[in-house]
Amino acid sequence: MSNKDHDLSGSIITNDVVIVGGGLAGLFCALKLAPRPVTVISAAPLGQGASTAWAQGGIAAAVAEGDSAEAHATDTIAVGAGLVDETIALGLAREAGARIHDLLRYGVPFDRDLEGRLAVAQEAAHSARRIVHVRGDMAGKAIISALIEAVRRAPSIRVIEGYVAEALLTEDDTVTGLQLRKADDATAKPLTVASRAVVLATGGIGHLYAVTTNPLEASGLGLAIAARAGAVIADPEFVQFHPTGIMVGRDPAPLATEALRGEGATLINDRGERFMQARHPLAELAPRDIVARGVFAEIAAGHGAFLDATKALGVHFAEKFPTVYASCLAAGIDPARQPIPVAPAAHYHMGGISVDAHGRTSLKGLWAGGEVSSTGAHGANRLASNSLLEAVVYAARIAEDIGGSTIAAPGRSLQTSIAPRNGAMPPLSEQNLRAMMTSHVGVIRDSERLAEAVRAFSAIERDAGNIALRNMATTALLVAASAWSRRESRGAHCRIDYAIEKPALARRTMTTLVAAWDVAASLSERAPLRSAQPIIA
Ligand SMILES: Cc1cc2nc3c(=O)[nH]c(=O)nc-3n(C[C@H](O)[C@H](O)[C@H](O)COP(=O)(O)OP(=O)(O)OC[C@H]3O[C@@H](n4cnc5c(N)ncnc54)[C@H](O)[C@@H]3O)c2cc1C
Repeated sequence: MSNKDHDLSGSIITNDVVIVGGGLAGLFCALKLAPRPVTVISAAPLGQGASTAWAQGGIAAAVAEGDSAEAHATDTIAVGAGLVDETIALGLAREAGARIHDLLRYGVPFDRDLEGRLAVAQEAAHSARRIVHVRGDMAGKAIISALIEAVRRAPSIRVIEGYVAEALLTEDDTVTGLQLRKADDATAKPLTVASRAVVLATGGIGHLYAVTTNPLEASGLGLAIAARAGAVIADPEFVQFHPTGIMVGRDPAPLATEALRGEGATLINDRGERFMQARHPLAELAPRDIVARGVFAEIAAGHGAFLDATKALGVHFAEKFPTVYASCLAAGIDPARQPIPVAPAAHYHMGGISVDAHGRTSLKGLWAGGEVSSTGAHGANRLASNSLLEAVVYAARIAEDIGGSTIAAPGRSLQTSIAPRNGAMPPLSEQNLRAMMTSHVGVIRDSERLAEAVRAFSAIERDAGNIALRNMATTALLVAASAWSRRESRGAHCRIDYAIEKPALARRTMTTLVAAWDVAASLSERAPLRSAQPIIA
């Protein structure tokens, strides 16, 4: 059932579980909850506006002979730069096989070898070939298509498409519902949905950056509404930049998947020199943050950066990586014969709404899964292809947790204190915010630019008359304030003024919007100067 069949207005009181997000985490959770009634809300029509659909590599799963969940967890922990919760990483790796089999049952056609076993590819910083994939780089499209078909067939799942969740409704520390608004009409009347079980699966924050691989809908709105309702936010400063966004003037930037480097493609500058060999023993297959900084430095030094697959793949490029091939060809580059221009692009958020091993947030009645959440599995840097795995594992755990609990019936009256009126998005404001995220809160950070960003985002957050802009500024503020507070370099968080990793700071950030406001007040020229509360727990 979809909202195309129904006129939506006013408020909906529902006994359903309400899931916000139509990517892997949201749809998988809805399917796992069946036959329990579920309403899925998605800002974009299903299949669009979800990072899941764009995933090229695949899902990390230790399913090959000779590989093990323990080895997978060891690699995850090594990349996470001291902040990975080891129990969580091992649990994730152990549940991978079962979730891959679920996806096969939902119709995802993972590639197989000649003997019919799941085929596995190599990706950076994995000690074994363990990425299950579909037709080379088509994993995301295949996963989302299969899940959408299964959801459309499930009588227990109602889908509301084209509505954005802009606020959580709460009583004390309990979530009682959501406020939604039509995605393409800022001034439309809001719709309220009363529910005592809400799952946020709204994806990442990449589109808060001017250079990103993420869709427009990945603007951090889910994280913002949870933070505004008082939820604890974990590790917001850790943003992964993909080293090889394809620089052909498109927003978002198309991605040249890591698997290309796994197949032997090299990174070169405009003189044809392989610059990663001098930076790390694993060269192009070093952890993502190191490769991203290498590419950033080469571009900053004026030498440019290119991914060269002409020798490693040559004429086989189109057949092995059809998505990348098509993106390059559309921009007039033949990657079988020419190096591809690349730059680091905001790609994945390790931080998010803090959740426990069941996906429960700090607010009663609110769960979070997929990229919007922070489970502790990634620490300061994500191992390639662990994010789809985390999304699918936690979606299943949330469904199990909700399935096993008694959810109170929704109240008849809803809190109405969230502003019903909304102003139009002021011109250039979103563009300016995104430009500042890239220049001030990007691959390389320093105290001065972070402080400037904190002040700017807190002013927007305080004054914005448009709710979407205010929510974007809320998430941007949380990222910038935590990045300002973490006075060290660790994983994807690189400070030129605090270049060293400090053992004393090897703990996750647990923060709130109030703590970020405190940082902003302490940095504000107008506010009385007082030292900011440390926001690292
Ligand atoms: C180009 C690219 C390639 C990638 N490749 C891989 C890979 O190979 N392997 C891997 O493991 N990971 C990969 N990732 C990361 C991975 O795709 C994501 O982390 C994962 O898909 C997130 O799934 P999700 O369900 O949490 O969010 P998404 O798939 O992004 O879905 C979020 C959903 O929430 C909706 N939404 C957002 N905000 C709101 C709101 N306020 N109200 C209503 N709806 C809202 C969106 O419309 C969308 O339906 C890649 C990411 C990108 C961008």
